[in-house]
Amino acid sequence: MKNKTTLDANAAKKFLQANWGIKADLSALPSERDINFKAVGDKTYVLKIYTEVNATLKASLNFQNKVLNFLQDNSIHCAPAVIGAKKNKTLIPVSKSSYARLLSFHDGVAWGNAATHSGEEIEQLGRLIATVDKKLASLKITQTEKNSLNAPFMWNMLQAGKILSWSGKIEDQELRKLVEKTLTNFQKNIVPELKKLPKQVIHNDGNDYNIIVGSETLSLIDFGDMIYAPKIVGAAVAAAYVGIKSEDPVKEIAAFVRGYHSINPLSLDELSIFLELVKVRLASSVANAALQRGNNPGNEYLSISQNDVPRTLKLIDAFDKNFAIFRLRNAIGFEANPNAKAIRDFLLTVKPANILKKSFNDLKRVYINWSFDNPEIPRSTSAIEDLMAKTGADVTIGYYCENRNVYQGEAFKPEAASARTFHLGVDIGMPAGTEVFAPLDGIIEVFNNNSTHLDYGPVVILRHKTDTGINFWTLYGHLSIDSMPNWKIGKELKAGELVGRMGKEEENVGWPPHTHFQLLTDLCGMGIDIYVVAPRDEVALWRGISLNPNLILSIPNGTDAHAKISPESIRSERRVVISQNLSLNFKKPINIVSGSGAYLFDEKGKSYLDLVNNVAHVGHGHPRVVAAAAAQMSVLNTNTRYLHQSVVEYGKALTSTMPDPLSVIFFVNSGSEANDLAIRLARAHTKAKAVVALRHGYHGHTQSVVEISPYKFLGKGGQGAASHVGVAELPDLFRGKFTGKKATDKYIENLKKTIKGLKQPLSAFFAESIVSTAGQIVLPDGYLAAAYKLVRSHGGVCVSDEVQIGMGRVGDKFWGFELHGVVPDIVTLGKPLGNGHPLAAVVTTPEIAASFNNGMEYFNTFGGNPVSAAIGQAVLEVVYDQKLQLNAKNMGDYLRLGVKELGKKYPIISDVRGSGLFIGVEMMIDDKTPATNEVADLMEFALSKGVLLSCDGPDNNVLKIKPPLVITKSDVDLLLSVLSDWLAKK
Ligand code: PMP
Repeated sequence: MKNKTTLDANAAKKFLQANWGIKADLSALPSERDINFKAVGDKTYVLKIYTEVNATLKASLNFQNKVLNFLQDNSIHCAPAVIGAKKNKTLIPVSKSSYARLLSFHDGVAWGNAATHSGEEIEQLGRLIATVDKKLASLKITQTEKNSLNAPFMWNMLQAGKILSWSGKIEDQELRKLVEKTLTNFQKNIVPELKKLPKQVIHNDGNDYNIIVGSETLSLIDFGDMIYAPKIVGAAVAAAYVGIKSEDPVKEIAAFVRGYHSINPLSLDELSIFLELVKVRLASSVANAALQRGNNPGNEYLSISQNDVPRTLKLIDAFDKNFAIFRLRNAIGFEANPNAKAIRDFLLTVKPANILKKSFNDLKRVYINWSFDNPEIPRSTSAIEDLMAKTGADVTIGYYCENRNVYQGEAFKPEAASARTFHLGVDIGMPAGTEVFAPLDGIIEVFNNNSTHLDYGPVVILRHKTDTGINFWTLYGHLSIDSMPNWKIGKELKAGELVGRMGKEEENVGWPPHTHFQLLTDLCGMGIDIYVVAPRDEVALWRGISLNPNLILSIPNGTDAHAKISPESIRSERRVVISQNLSLNFKKPINIVSGSGAYLFDEKGKSYLDLVNNVAHVGHGHPRVVAAAAAQMSVLNTNTRYLHQSVVEYGKALTSTMPDPLSVIFFVNSGSEANDLAIRLARAHTKAKAVVALRHGYHGHTQSVVEISPYKFLGKGGQGAASHVGVAELPDLFRGKFTGKKATDKYIENLKKTIKGLKQPLSAFFAESIVSTAGQIVLPDGYLAAAYKLVRSHGGVCVSDEVQIGMGRVGDKFWGFELHGVVPDIVTLGKPLGNGHPLAAVVTTPEIAASFNNGMEYFNTFGGNPVSAAIGQAVLEVVYDQKLQLNAKNMGDYLRLGVKELGKKYPIISDVRGSGLFIGVEMMIDDKTPATNEVADLMEFALSKGVLLSCDGPDNNVLKIKPPLVITKSDVDLLLSVLSDWLAKK
């Protein structure tokens, strides 16, 4: 296609106004095939003009519009939107063979314009491509569309074999050979694998100039190269460009894969061919550029990445195949080396010989700390000797996965994100000359004298085999020069035979006498230079390649330092290791490492006032609770089938806080479990099954309680109400279905209707007294009393869910239901009971407990164990001894008053409600518009000021305040000043 414009900027401007009614200023944008103008008017657009449009191109443009509309319709806004012209047309003739269309403009810079990208940005790119692919998998297409997506096309990887017919145009002969090797291998070995994978429409051109980096988002543009192919093909196309400027492209590609996989999972089969596909794309790019350069010598756009592409292709080709797969496996959350499990399993069933003469059990050991945390590292031989003399130790032990501050040289510079500082062996320190023996039968694989200062000195690697024939290796560093004559590659050593002796400081090139012992599942093509210290941003990867050597050494106190990795690494590991349903708070999640009282602290020591955590009821890390836990843990922890004073005493103490006849307790482990048991109790007692719950209410995450949680089953991903569940309207007098006079009666009337509408007899009515997930809705006076009466008249029992609000939090009373003067039949307890220890309970009447006792055993492994009971008792006593209920009342009153005062000046604060320290602040823009975005903004603002807040309610516009009960007046003042600053800046 020729780059011949049919419209200049001026004519295009008029054309835009005539057809779309949009007034805008136009400027030309660079492009390979089309003529593009950026149009800045009310919004910013791209006007795309296509010349010499034949029927095929016209069909393709219509198809692009279909795809882009499909993405927009499915809330995928990271791709351009098609702007309809007058009469909703999307493709407008410019002249006989020329057409135009208008797309939304995605502001930002092209990915390829930035010199480097962080791992996090690359993962984000992976997620972008995956998001589009995942949605496109459900796009329905016609046979004609499929045919055109399969038509001959030089950028269709499935047709890459054809490129061999023009690869001869590549001038650099070495490069030509590599391209041809890649394409031939593709034809022979990869195409058959691709044929097994399902096909879909893919974007197929996520190159670094089609990714637009905006201030917070990435966008994918140019859908002109779509094909019908396995999703992995498009992922590989995008991945081919992410590492293009890097010396280590496989690392960057792995980051891309991680991001992609976290949205659209990749299988191991897909992963196993991934890098070959990346190479095919790069090889195609080299060959196609050679072809296009020949045809079109003047076009710079065609050569845009042609310096980096061959370099990247060569780097990937030369990269060790095993190590590459380890990186990709680790990227998707799998253990890096698939053999690691078998090697570990083998070592768990054998008893290796002692590598020192004696077992570590019989040696007095002292651990050395060479980490960044230690200001006085015993680094010299004399410092180590002093330490040993002082402690009377026979041997020093240096940790595995310790973040070390003792290495020198470029690769180890601690400032760098990928500095190599995580130690992968265990150091065993004894006097020079100490003999070191082979723990298992093995063969000398490789050895050397790495004599650079602070390297290894004499080092040897043995190869071993598991009983199923899987190889693994042990490495011994810092041995003596006189050990070396014994070493010969291929020589067999039996378990217990001498490997060598520990070297003196001079011969082991500057280290105190010791041996570095390492257990390797692979040598990653590095041979004797295998990493002995891992990059700090790839610790998880290396844990899966170089296992904890204590699997062989069996040092009784362990050897894993579990040194802290960066919050960024935790976050990216979390994406693939922990289920993605579990979201994180805040745009940039925080890494909380400790807590005290009402405050939390991140890894840098920044403090945060915690107004969210009603679990840490008596404050984070309360010393009495910690002491009670540790004391009981060190004496006994068993199940409840023995006589324990503590569980009975604590049970009685807890039931004594409740009105008669609530006197029988069951201990469980979570609020969900408590509510699940409550359902069972109710069913046993009433012989009925149906449950009524309040709209927007939440009672837990297990199957039975999700079914009675409208917050979940009517929310995102919910399946609607189960046949045994009825939903009563939430009695919200502020913004609920009924407000004003008589509203409470109407809600009771609605409850009656709900019960009547049930398809089966009523068993239980579940409600919190302040409905938390609904946005801290305080039930109106009289509602619960009337509701309980009604429920009981229909044969049901009344369950009060106190999981969130109980234990003195509501200030005026110890339990939330007491605010309403009612006595439930069953009360469920959770969060605050154990101050963070998983302790929950159900309290009921003797009568209901008797109905439940029908012969079936009720055994709960952990529920009510002596440690839980000791913790629960300590928490309860702290609530009493520190008068925390009164503090909740006073601080809650003070806080609500302060917020109400602010509300007089700032009408966005439209309702302040709650009781004690269970508070909701509802924000509205006007009577009808919830301030959802504003509340989100406030939470981020407060975070920046060191205050943690959360929000809830159907519109996420209610600030929830439910701090540990130990907050002080100055903590409340801090919140009020942050709130006031935010309101003032709005
Ligand atoms: N009931 C209520 C009212 C809750 O808020 C929750 C937890 N947020 C639960 C039950 C479930 O408790 P858990 O998460 O301990 O299972």
